[in-house]
Amino acid sequence: MKFADLGLSDELLEAVESAGYSEPTPIQAQAIPQVQMMKDLIAIAQTGTGKTASFVLPMIDILAHGRRRALMPRSLILEPTRELAQQVAENFEKYGVNHDLRMALLIGGVQMGDQVKALNEGVDVLIATPGRLMDLFERGKILLTGCDLLVIDEADRMLDMGFIPDIEFICEKLPANRQTLLFSATMPPPIKKLADRFLTNPKYIEVARPATANTNIAQHKVHVQSRNKREVLRHILQTDDVTSALIFANRKTTVRELNKSLQRHGFKTGEIHGDMDQASRIKELDQFKKGEINILVASDVAARGLDIKGVSHVFNFDTPWHPDDYVHRIGRTGRAGAKGRAFTFVAPEDAEAIANVEKLTKMDIPVFEVGQAAAKQDKKPERTTERSPRESRREKKVEAEEREQRREKRPASPKPEKKPARRAEPRAKTVQEEDEDEPGEWNGPVPGFLGQSAL
Ligand code: AMP
Repeated sequence: MKFADLGLSDELLEAVESAGYSEPTPIQAQAIPQVQMMKDLIAIAQTGTGKTASFVLPMIDILAHGRRRALMPRSLILEPTRELAQQVAENFEKYGVNHDLRMALLIGGVQMGDQVKALNEGVDVLIATPGRLMDLFERGKILLTGCDLLVIDEADRMLDMGFIPDIEFICEKLPANRQTLLFSATMPPPIKKLADRFLTNPKYIEVARPATANTNIAQHKVHVQSRNKREVLRHILQTDDVTSALIFANRKTTVRELNKSLQRHGFKTGEIHGDMDQASRIKELDQFKKGEINILVASDVAARGLDIKGVSHVFNFDTPWHPDDYVHRIGRTGRAGAKGRAFTFVAPEDAEAIANVEKLTKMDIPVFEVGQAAAKQDKKPERTTERSPRESRREKKVEAEEREQRREKRPASPKPEKKPARRAEPRAKTVQEEDEDEPGEWNGPVPGFLGQSAL
């Protein structure tokens, strides 16, 4: 099938062609005709399937007709995180180049002046995270009565983040005869209930999970001890032909500390996590996209949907507690037909977590033997990562400093690390908490200490 067979306007086909796409993905082929027919839709699809264009493209054609009115957006797209909202906005810009459509992006953590001004003048599409939208709605800055088309994207993620009460509230404020499109990777009972309540006779579409079936990603697990994770990571970073890497950690403190540690060791790194303000998040992402830094240490806030070209490696510095997160994290590499590698660090306490990942992905992830690889490579004089004596001295000095820092932090008798409970009862979130999908910060003692490396 070709895009031209889908009955999209010539202007839109031109924009799609400029984007370099000739054939619709399965979700696009199935969803676009339904949206064009003004049907409600439930689509079970993950990021990476092309789902964004499956609603953005037909929406552009629908919105091409009709008039904007002050304070009354004509359509609304709800996204769970600021990054996803931003990405959808970029899609609108990319595919809407030949249309005169106005968009506003309402996300937490950024100044609202321009967005409120745009809303006052009238917008065709409003892309928002629920917290910020509720905030503005309650202050009387938006009227939702003219909003005939609603997209609820990443619904199961909204559930995880406690946004369902907000979404119910928002749905009630929209006209009853609107068109509603709901996208979700899974269909847990609360999402089914939401769909039953707010969608009318929806068409149901399901496409395969992308990352689990993505054979472009070579997956490995690496057995480590908590105390030698950083050394193992540095070793792989130096020896595995890493052009650009995303490193995921389970806790924000780990993200911050690991980033600092890698920088001390001379790597060009940045960090992204939910405690940072939006401007800093955008800045770090931009630097990564532009190649000014080639390693980004991230929390799961960057795991879903982020579409960054050319990420050669994904590292799970911690085995994710939730197996779905594994699929999302590794899906940041091996995109658009490129090859990618994913390394998951497995410490003894991660046995259950990795078993859950392997159950979900239905595979035994092959073990990567770091020690052996290192031993073999150490014998090779032509090793590409050979460090100069000066570099080696510096490396040793940084390692010694880090060991010292760890010792200072080391408790008299280390307590076993507690796994924070995930997916507690959803609850309404404040604007500040928006995007915070991560479990509670671990502020306790650092268990163990960085001893001599096994390498
Ligand atoms: P999404 O699932 O919306 O996050 O899209 C995943 C990636 O697929 C993005 O990089 C899109 O630009 C890309 N994409 C979207 N539609 C197509 C298509 N028809 N052919 C190839 N790539 C596409």
